[in-house]
Amino acid sequence: MDTETSAPRSDIAASLAAVRARIATALAAAGRPAESVTLVAVSKTQPPGQIAAAIAAGQRVFGENRVQEAKAKFPGLKARHPGIELRLIGRLQSNKAADAVALFDVIETIDSEKLARAVAAAMARLGRRPRCLVQVNTGGEAQKAGVAPDQTGALVALCRDELGLPVEGLMCIPPVDADPAPHFRQLAALARSLGLAVLSMGMSADYPVAIEAGATHVRVGTAIFGARPAP
Ligand SMILES: *Cc1c(COP(=O)(O)O)cnc(C)c1O
Repeated sequence: MDTETSAPRSDIAASLAAVRARIATALAAAGRPAESVTLVAVSKTQPPGQIAAAIAAGQRVFGENRVQEAKAKFPGLKARHPGIELRLIGRLQSNKAADAVALFDVIETIDSEKLARAVAAAMARLGRRPRCLVQVNTGGEAQKAGVAPDQTGALVALCRDELGLPVEGLMCIPPVDADPAPHFRQLAALARSLGLAVLSMGMSADYPVAIEAGATHVRVGTAIFGARPAP
């Protein structure tokens, strides 16, 4: 880990407080109840010491985008801090479904029938049932993960009705250069039409916009931990 990109502990506590304050302001501005958004601290690339600093500052919900990396960092942290919730926010390959089911409390990135079936099989085998979100490719980007908006209903139905997966909501990552607001509104409308309560949307650059559109979970990395080292 490059120490220049690692925020000192006191910075992490201050950044967390600032993000929580902005969340509260955005909720109030939208006329939404206080505390109706969960802050997911995105700790990808951050070493366990940085994550421990966030835990010491009261943070309990974390997001990681790679199964292997999370597997290396979180079992120890989870053993020491039983209240931690770990969410998978990156692409999941079917052959890693069992590892993901074993470690994560929520899998936010179900986006195909093949993956849904692999996750359901892993749940049956391991006797563990992490909650699930379906990732929607609202921007229709060829390279991006996520199911097409017009196929979301069918995938959610398959997950819920045929496979019995505990699907509680939708997740999206809008195109980098686009105004995110229409994407957030589209995801909110889709979730409403499907009777899903959880909406994971909004990152460091746009979480107040996502909260205005109804986000229940915002995924914030850089604004808490500082810039990540280049991959
Ligand atoms: C990295 C990541 C985030 C956090 O991004 P920041 O801009 O650092 O807040 C949120 N969601 C997903 C899916 C990510 O991969």
